[in-house]
Amino acid sequence: MGHPKPKLPGSVSWAWSWQELAACARFDPRLFFHPTGERGEGSRARELAAKQVCATCPVLEPCRAYALAVREPYGVWGGLTEEERAHLLRRRRAARAA
Ligand code: SF4
Repeated sequence: MGHPKPKLPGSVSWAWSWQELAACARFDPRLFFHPTGERGEGSRARELAAKQVCATCPVLEPCRAYALAVREPYGVWGGLTEEERAHLLRRRRAARAA
């Protein structure tokens, strides 16, 4: 259960041991990844429920850092949706360019 173990890029020597403490390991992964065609209120409710699990997770920070570092394209990771991660990454790029 929980998130699938990621395929780490060779250049990223990321310690994956934090996943052993993941709060989401006790939940159905479908809570964290939107099914095809999910929209609107159903999507928001599922994401909110996933975020509530993340809020209790002792490894939220390394999970979020991992998802941002490898540009995880889908799902809630580290309490952030894919849209929120994309927004954060755009802000970081803009701040670096300024
Ligand atoms: S922060 Fe959320 S997605 Fe990441 S390991 Fe914890 S529960 Fe899972």
